[in-house]
Amino acid sequence: MTTAADTKTFLNYINGEWQASESNEVISSSNPANIQEVVGNVQDSTRQDLDKAVEAAKHAQKSWKKLSGAERGNYLFKVADILEKNVDRIAETMTREMGKTLPEAKGETSRGVAILRYYAGEGMRKVGDVIPSTDSSALMFSKRIPLGVVGAITPWNFPVAIPIWKIAPALIYGNSVVLKPASEAAVTAAQVLECFHEAGFPRGVVNFVTGKGSVIGQGLAEHPAVNAVTFTGSNKTGSNIGKTVAARGGKYQLEMGGKNPIIVAEDCDLDLAVDAAISGGLKSTGQKCTCSSRVIVQSNIYEEFKEKLIEKVNGLKVGNGLEEGSWMGPCASEGQYNTVRSYIQKGLEEGAELIAGGKQPENMESEGYYLEPTIFDNVTTDMVIAQEEIFGPVLALMKVDTMEEAIELANDVEFGLSASIFTKNIDHILSFIDDIEAGLVRINSETAGVELQAPFGGMKASSSHSREQGEAAKEFFTTIKTVFIKG
Ligand code: NAD
Repeated sequence: MTTAADTKTFLNYINGEWQASESNEVISSSNPANIQEVVGNVQDSTRQDLDKAVEAAKHAQKSWKKLSGAERGNYLFKVADILEKNVDRIAETMTREMGKTLPEAKGETSRGVAILRYYAGEGMRKVGDVIPSTDSSALMFSKRIPLGVVGAITPWNFPVAIPIWKIAPALIYGNSVVLKPASEAAVTAAQVLECFHEAGFPRGVVNFVTGKGSVIGQGLAEHPAVNAVTFTGSNKTGSNIGKTVAARGGKYQLEMGGKNPIIVAEDCDLDLAVDAAISGGLKSTGQKCTCSSRVIVQSNIYEEFKEKLIEKVNGLKVGNGLEEGSWMGPCASEGQYNTVRSYIQKGLEEGAELIAGGKQPENMESEGYYLEPTIFDNVTTDMVIAQEEIFGPVLALMKVDTMEEAIELANDVEFGLSASIFTKNIDHILSFIDDIEAGLVRINSETAGVELQAPFGGMKASSSHSREQGEAAKEFFTTIKTVFIKG
């Protein structure tokens, strides 16, 4: 057994130096596939640690913003190269720390490399427009400028990609950053920060402070010198952060939960739809904000779809994500495991019919937070399992007669992140694009999966309405000066 005492302890990264917290306390991160194993320790930081990081970021930003976009981009290109050399090592840490299978962890880490290169290139692209003035001897233009210090608060489910898709655009537009990752995956995030350190950024431009959400996350939301907070995580935490930052006049961006539907129309390619429900709903153990959790199927193909789905789901191998052949790893933590189990119990109590999974798989090699891929039948929209985000390997099957009914049902939740439809009918496709309440609209493709160069974000309670990724990130990480020059 690995104990906290003989496990590597990761430090905060403040003003270009690795530092222990003033608390002298650490938080241990353990392996959800083998709960005896401690993967690493991170600092249980205090508000004083955070103050130091914010101060360093504030100071560093003054010269960072003066570099050209191309110069800032060169730093991001360097991190990308370093991260690329470390993909295998960091992906393995990710699998050990939060349970995602190794191929998925490698895919995510490589995505981090691509995001860094994308935003490195943004340093050479335009940050303003010339606007014709009514005065013919004047020049008027808009210029996007940085916000200052950006606080980034990130979840555990994409511990490489999400910090990078916040840090990289923040930096390229001239902001400095203080990152606070989720403790459940902070060791992985610390290894990403090591890549930033190796790239040789000027001191204080990128800072990393681990600790409790209620201390460091809340501290970033409250800190008067943090000009903007970008958050990804649950709705409960996000809405508090939004209120706190807004109350002091800061800028905020919240990317939160989903309850994503996949609609399966009678004319679709059924095998494609079954595979998309499985991949979109159960990969990463259902722990993606874009996971499909409601499968809405037209009645005359419902039984056939259900049979095919059950057969395939029962064949999925659950195991330690490091082992070859494991299709799905454990839930990421004990808390997550207990939450998912309580939703399964709730589904049974509400009268939904369990037709696959629902319990711990038997004969696992190690003690971990494993759950079988689970399917509920006869789910109605008033049930809790049809309304709340479960964030686990649970699919809810729902039956409809018409496509109008399907879209109405799909929209009957507070969330609006991603939605997909499987059909060959162009009228259904066009109505879906128009009427579905979701930021990501996917036709004949699973709900999960995004491209880094396209805007990402949700409608309704899934987000605070701004978008991340691609060029859209510029909206959040900059503000506009309108310049008028009279000759
Ligand atoms: P969470 O809200 O529990 O934690 C997210 C972050 O907030 C962590 O760093 C945590 O330490 C911090 N935090 C906790 N309490 C805080 C507080 N009082 N003040 C400030 N910060 C605090 O979420 P999670 O469990 O880490 O992540 C899962 C959630 O994230 C799911 O709801 C999922 O849908 C969502 N998510 C959304 C997206 C998206 O882009 N829409 C992407 C990934 C995950």
